[in-house]
Amino acid sequence: MIVVMKQAASEEDIEKVKAKAIEQGHEPKVLYGVERTVVAVHGKVIEDNRGVMRLLDNVHQVIPIGRSYKLASKTYKESYTQVKIKDLVVGGKELAFIAGPDSAEYQEQTLETAEAVVQAGGNGLRGGAFKPRTSPYSFQGLGEEGLVLLKEAADLHNLPLFSEIMDVQHLEMMEEYVDVLQIGARNMQNFKLLEAVGESKLPVLLKRGMSATLEELLLASEYILTRGNENVILCERGIRTFETATRNTFDINAIPYLKMNTHLPVIADPSHGTGANNLVAPIALAAIAAGADGLLIEIHPRPDEALCDGPQALTPPELTDLGKKVSSMAEVVGRSLKT
Ligand code: PEP
Ligand code: MN
Repeated sequence: MIVVMKQAASEEDIEKVKAKAIEQGHEPKVLYGVERTVVAVHGKVIEDNRGVMRLLDNVHQVIPIGRSYKLASKTYKESYTQVKIKDLVVGGKELAFIAGPDSAEYQEQTLETAEAVVQAGGNGLRGGAFKPRTSPYSFQGLGEEGLVLLKEAADLHNLPLFSEIMDVQHLEMMEEYVDVLQIGARNMQNFKLLEAVGESKLPVLLKRGMSATLEELLLASEYILTRGNENVILCERGIRTFETATRNTFDINAIPYLKMNTHLPVIADPSHGTGANNLVAPIALAAIAAGADGLLIEIHPRPDEALCDGPQALTPPELTDLGKKVSSMAEVVGRSLKT
């Protein structure tokens, strides 16, 4: 349940609510918001106990939550969260249009891709340096050297940089280079990693696991939110189904469902969602039509030479073309994208 305090509530009143929750066998967590202070009480609370809570001084409202996730829910916070990263606001009227290579490879490639992102009206650069590869024999990413290249390219255009973190031990080092810590699909339930990025000052891009339900995605976000990091962006990137015609099945339902049930921004990754460059644009547009706050797109100046995910990469001109289409679609749904 969530105990919403009146504005007049004192620290003492809040302490009494916490003490009552503990007495009832639950773990309380106080969240001081701009508009109101609430006490989130974890665990299933019986109706009698909720009634008692309502009687305490300066309690405005007690909201039962049937949902397992709390801090991410729209019941907890009605207004949509806007995640601010340099000049980019994810979750505002303007769409996030983040693009870049699957992986940093060499300087010319990162510089060319960053240039292509700007040309297309993009407002964020993505790129991997630590790659979660199915096979240990595949290219694993350039590591810190890749971050150097990506940061150089991003800084040249003042683009915020999104890159995946795979190891808790890399956190401090990565904070030196990136603006957003990406948690990949394969690590969505790496709880120690989630807790670690929950302690970071940097925003987190949390990708849906390929076999994760939306509830599991939202519960994964709770691991970050409960550690105090409120800047979480969710990403639908396709799930595994019986369909083998495409790499993954982009779950379009996820976009409006998440927008209705969480205040966190939601972006779409049609590159991994489809695995095919000719399917990226239609699915990107569908995601924006469905209410996504932005897109995460893989590009490469020479997709046929890419060391990873070439088949799903757009070329720079294709990205520019997509930018124009996204900009038109944005207007239809009351959003915008400057291209
Ligand atoms: C990526 O963004 O390059 C990536 C590895 O994505 P995912 O974790 O969604 O597979
Ligand atoms: Mn990729």
